[in-house]
Amino acid sequence: PHPKQHPQRVAIIDLDAISQNVATLRSVARSGELMTVVKADGYAHGLVPVAQAALAGGATRLGTAVLEEAFALRDAGVTAPIFSWLASPGTDYAAAIKRDIELAAYGTDQLAEIVQAAEAAGSPAVVHLKADTGMWRGGAAPADWPELVAAARRAEADGLIRVVGLWSHLACADEPGHPSLAAQLRVFEEASDLARAAGLRPTLRHIANSAATLSLPESHFDMVRPGIATYGINPIPVEHRTGMPRLRPAMTLAGAIVQTKRAPAGSGVSYGHTEILPQETTLAVVPLGYADGVFRSASGIGQVQVGGGRYRVTGRVCMDQFIIDVGDDAVAAGDRVVLFGPGDDGEPSADDWADAAGTIPYEVLTRIAARVPRVYR
Ligand code: PLP
Repeated sequence: PHPKQHPQRVAIIDLDAISQNVATLRSVARSGELMTVVKADGYAHGLVPVAQAALAGGATRLGTAVLEEAFALRDAGVTAPIFSWLASPGTDYAAAIKRDIELAAYGTDQLAEIVQAAEAAGSPAVVHLKADTGMWRGGAAPADWPELVAAARRAEADGLIRVVGLWSHLACADEPGHPSLAAQLRVFEEASDLARAAGLRPTLRHIANSAATLSLPESHFDMVRPGIATYGINPIPVEHRTGMPRLRPAMTLAGAIVQTKRAPAGSGVSYGHTEILPQETTLAVVPLGYADGVFRSASGIGQVQVGGGRYRVTGRVCMDQFIIDVGDDAVAAGDRVVLFGPGDDGEPSADDWADAAGTIPYEVLTRIAARVPRVYR
């Protein structure tokens, strides 16, 4: 074996960090329950390992957008309550009911499908009614809420559903003080009052994502529903983070240098020759590209760490690789290269890559491709 045998490309996932982040979020939440959002393959950290680490850290429930991921959790033997909230007409709700997946109801047509499936399955569906309180994404808008509540009450009286939850989603929670926050909470309270008046008794009212869990205690109600903070990313802008607990980034994206070579001044580097070397230097090839989730928009801007040094992407990010200019430093083939990590050793963070790529860390994490092996520690 080569003396420096680092994996060619790898996403190292720190499961303790995930458990610790969940425990931290529980400690700041006023609510009795915490649902860890594990959608999108656990924000690309791995659905099942993340779910297990979150439950170990004190999560009481798990949430996924699509039903397939809820089923995958059940297939893996996860018995915790699971809520899945994104379904289109024609969804096999009966399969979801049989597998004990809690469902979101957005409107009366969809609720009718769930009710029909409950009849077919021979057991009631467990439902969380979704109020659209002002994001204008999914859910019943205030004008449609009374009709949804009435239909849910009838179905509950018929024994076909159990309404355990009432929920919504905030549009601007990562902008503390944004006027829409108070407005959405007010609409949520009104929706809650209306549901109670109609005879519904949901014990889980939930609206808080990570940003609201960290910065808006009045939004915690019975349960918080954080995603990104679980993975160690704080979505609140730095200037608003005073007094907030530290979270630990769980993913390190790394690889091994493929090749190095000297290049003379005037050489054009990578596709399109967007960079011409001003002087002779050493170039090194990094074996991760946009097909692995390295943003092409970070070409010329994103940084990596090799040894103790930081180096910038030189020229364009390619599909499977990119090039860095390491000057006269002693970088060699086989050396470990770190794109991002928790920052303990001065390596860039996922936030740094988001800035370089002109996007958000959510996208940096969730774009890490399936072909990058996940290693757990
Ligand atoms: N709840 C819902 C309905 C979501 O769609 C998401 C993710 O966008 C979350 C909670 C978690 O959000 P965040 O990752 O910002 O904590």
